[in-house]
Amino acid sequence: MGALETTAVLPAAFAELHKQIGVELALDAHHGALRRAAQAAARSAAGGAVLVTCSDELQGELRGAFERDVARPICSGSIVGPRSILALSNMAGRLETGALELAQTHFNARSASGERVLVVELMAHCGALNAQGATRYGRVERGGVQFDCCGVLARVLEDGEEFDAVRHPWREQLRVYLGPERLAALRSFDPATRLLATAVIHALLQGESGVAEVLRTRSSGSTHVLIASGVVLNRASGDTVLPVAIHHLHARAGEVELVHGASLRSTPAALRFEHVGGRLQVRSDEGVESVSAQRVQAAHGELFTSHARALHSATDELARARAKLAKEHLASARRQVERLKQRPQAWRAYARPVLRGLMQSLGVVAPEFGLVAMLVQTGHDAARAQRLRKLLERGPTRAEARDALQQIEAELQQLGHRDAQEVLDLLLHERSPLLG
Ligand SMILES: [Zn+2]
Repeated sequence: MGALETTAVLPAAFAELHKQIGVELALDAHHGALRRAAQAAARSAAGGAVLVTCSDELQGELRGAFERDVARPICSGSIVGPRSILALSNMAGRLETGALELAQTHFNARSASGERVLVVELMAHCGALNAQGATRYGRVERGGVQFDCCGVLARVLEDGEEFDAVRHPWREQLRVYLGPERLAALRSFDPATRLLATAVIHALLQGESGVAEVLRTRSSGSTHVLIASGVVLNRASGDTVLPVAIHHLHARAGEVELVHGASLRSTPAALRFEHVGGRLQVRSDEGVESVSAQRVQAAHGELFTSHARALHSATDELARARAKLAKEHLASARRQVERLKQRPQAWRAYARPVLRGLMQSLGVVAPEFGLVAMLVQTGHDAARAQRLRKLLERGPTRAEARDALQQIEAELQQLGHRDAQEVLDLLLHERSPLLG
């Protein structure tokens, strides 16, 4: 269940982490497995740790445990104890863009091997209240009064006038990433599991954002990145954790390899909750269709071809230099996709973050390429397609192209895996005009 490849070929430490996906367990059991996997990924490498959690005071137990059981041991020898974590505590626990890039520059390789390992833990959380022999998820008791937990995610699902009157940027961001279809699906869950499902999906999407960022960032040395996402269950008897995904990436010499991973699916309707021996288990049903019902249309095929050709035949020197860089990034993404296609499960799980990583890197080196690429993806949004066409016809400035691309990039998270696969295929096939 959930594993992207057979665990038989994995080192024992990673096989253990894979088996933990979807199974509630003690925090120290999960952190122990994560620490052993980090140590196995790169022997005697220098370490660094990133923790992304909700600001909620209930996450204090997690923060202490992560520092004690993961960050300090893997950073020992290279970093003074209390300085071992790059920490993001914000509403719901969102990975802010640029944080992993920053972490890669902060945690320098100081080992003789020149290798380093970066452990990134992204944890959503969810209350779990026992009442009359059943567990009610999404609630905690404080001073005899019951509250929603995670209170932030509860507010993301709500509609209310205060959100129209005062801007809540975190809420806007979370709603864009979840998208209207996932939000509607989550609202339709039974109240006893609604916030649990929301926390699982949120943690999965934050993990994908981490993968996209590592794919975009070109690392100079050899860096193993382990991204673990999960949901901390805040129980009266103490916290436990439900791991939902693990990703192992290896960046070196300008390329990033998706070594392996295991993950639940980010389609709400695919989630199945059950209890085994009093512990929660979550499976994702492989048979459920992906979240997005909107299929990609190649309606702008001719336009795509002509704009892509124009980019490659630019005569001005700067534009030619950008075209060369864009070509390198596209070729690298193409190699990435070729490798993924040999592992169908991984191809499904990673199509979306690979697409996002590609769009982000095009945004940096040659945003005009990103815009043209998006012509193949806008089939279902007529108004946006129209704006995009107009912008391309008159020739956007770099700033305009970047702005447009940033808006589109956030929406890519709403694509189902098949849509993302189709977009990548349209962009990167052997004779794609985008590759020149
Ligand atoms: Zn929270």
